[in-house]
Amino acid sequence: MAVQQPLLSITGISASYSHTIAALHNVSLEVRAGEIVALLGANGAGKSTTLKAVSNLLPAQRGKITGGSIHFDGHDVSTTSPSKLVRLGLVQVLEGRHCFRALSIEENLIVGGLGRSSSRSELAQDLERVYATFPRLKQKRRTAAGLTSGGEQQMAAIGRALMARPRLLILDEPSMGLAPLVVQDIFRRLKGLNQSDGLSILLAEQNSTIALRHADRAAILEVGVTVVEGTAADLRARDDIKAFYLGQAVTPAGSHTRAA
Ligand code: ATP
Repeated sequence: MAVQQPLLSITGISASYSHTIAALHNVSLEVRAGEIVALLGANGAGKSTTLKAVSNLLPAQRGKITGGSIHFDGHDVSTTSPSKLVRLGLVQVLEGRHCFRALSIEENLIVGGLGRSSSRSELAQDLERVYATFPRLKQKRRTAAGLTSGGEQQMAAIGRALMARPRLLILDEPSMGLAPLVVQDIFRRLKGLNQSDGLSILLAEQNSTIALRHADRAAILEVGVTVVEGTAADLRARDDIKAFYLGQAVTPAGSHTRAA
């Protein structure tokens, strides 16, 4: 049987900003079709830089890949424009959500579908699919995004990405600044899309507990280096990893709390 190529292959990449600040050193990671992969690590570990490298967004921030390679579905990412990558199905929700605050939730969603040359009826169908995933957005469809909650804005940012019909959805810190129940709800819906549509997902998270609960595999970055890689089930069970890299104190009963 032929071995299926990973949808995304990151092979030994190094990256720097402004020719001087080294942010990544030899990071490797794969996402196979249908997988959820989590990239974990503390503040400044290099998660966002890795995700921006994947979407070829580093040049816009005076950043550069200085070694290694990234391929999405056989395309060399470094020679493919970010907009072409979106059309190929690699769509990223950037850290901080970035909704158009003065536009309604529905207008924000429609913006996500404009890159594809879809007809009105296709756009309407895609909107209904997003509303089925996030019914809250349907309730708020006419509200200016700037007047909605952080959770609703995160849902709108994810919904906007879904409007581009991704095959690989990339999310940078989707939990950031949101209440635990909202985070749980968003992760459950992402898992639902993964299971029902086979949507592949790569996400960067500081909230390792929620990420490991929903991911198939994970990698941990520390100061720009991949220090651990494995199945999420293995990483969940490894107390040493939780204590060393993920900032979780391990109690004798085996329950975990976030270290101060
Ligand atoms: P966070 O959760 O804070 O976003 P992160 O794991 O995503 O952390 P990165 O944002 O990728 O980490 O940062 C990795 C390193 O690169 C850090 O040392 C950071 O200061 C540096 N860095 C990130 N963006 C830039 C930039 N635009 N210009 C210069 N240095 C940067």
